[in-house]
Amino acid sequence: MAVVYKRVLLKVSGEALAGEKGAGFDENVIASICSGIAKAYHAGTQIGIVVGGGNFWRGRSSGKMDRMDADKIGMLATVMNALALKDALRQAGVPAVVMTSAVMPQVAETFTSDKAIAALESGKVVVFGGGTGNPIFSTDTASALRALEISADIMLKATMVDGVYDKDPHRYPDAVRYDTLTFTRVLDERLAVMDMTAATLCRDNGLPILVFDLADPENIARAVAGENVGTLVRE
Ligand code: UDP
Repeated sequence: MAVVYKRVLLKVSGEALAGEKGAGFDENVIASICSGIAKAYHAGTQIGIVVGGGNFWRGRSSGKMDRMDADKIGMLATVMNALALKDALRQAGVPAVVMTSAVMPQVAETFTSDKAIAALESGKVVVFGGGTGNPIFSTDTASALRALEISADIMLKATMVDGVYDKDPHRYPDAVRYDTLTFTRVLDERLAVMDMTAATLCRDNGLPILVFDLADPENIARAVAGENVGTLVRE
């Protein structure tokens, strides 16, 4: 299988790691996601991964807690997920390293774009933990940021649906899936691709996004081979 993307940024939501349990880790699900990542890796694509934290915690739904503290807990949740993904990649035979936005040398390396690019070029998958390192932001925004910082060719946004629809496909059986979309349309119509901050960053910097379903982890290898397995959003 020939790859069309030399370097990609894969966004995996926290929920994806929980499987049907809805919270925490489902090791079988994580192993299956990592076998999909391994296939894309062995095809010859360099892979950076940003992982969310929703399987443990979300800052905005933390009730009475101060939002800044709640978001810090959310960012730490993404570090736990990054470590779990790195270890599952190791078990799948893929060398990987975690780099975090906040400094925590006993836990993982600290992110710099130079170190991340060097690790990718040396054949490692780099898992980015800790989001952007700032409260209020999301791991979607962290994905756009890291994708730009490592000069990724595309962001692969793995989700629970097989692309972007004109309305919620779970509620409306007549919902129509888009094959391609422009960022302007995503922003104007506030389509549920990713948060608007992330979409704006992608638009302003010419970074395409492929939104696809992670229920079939083989989709990752299909995506790096250039197959439109979901909805492709670009300028
Ligand atoms: N978070 C943050 N800054 C970031 C990324 C994440 O504060 O740059 C926090 C925020 O509280 C968020 C949580 O980490 O709710 C989990 O991240 P994710 O993007 O998965 O959140 P979700 O979109 O599921 O709320």
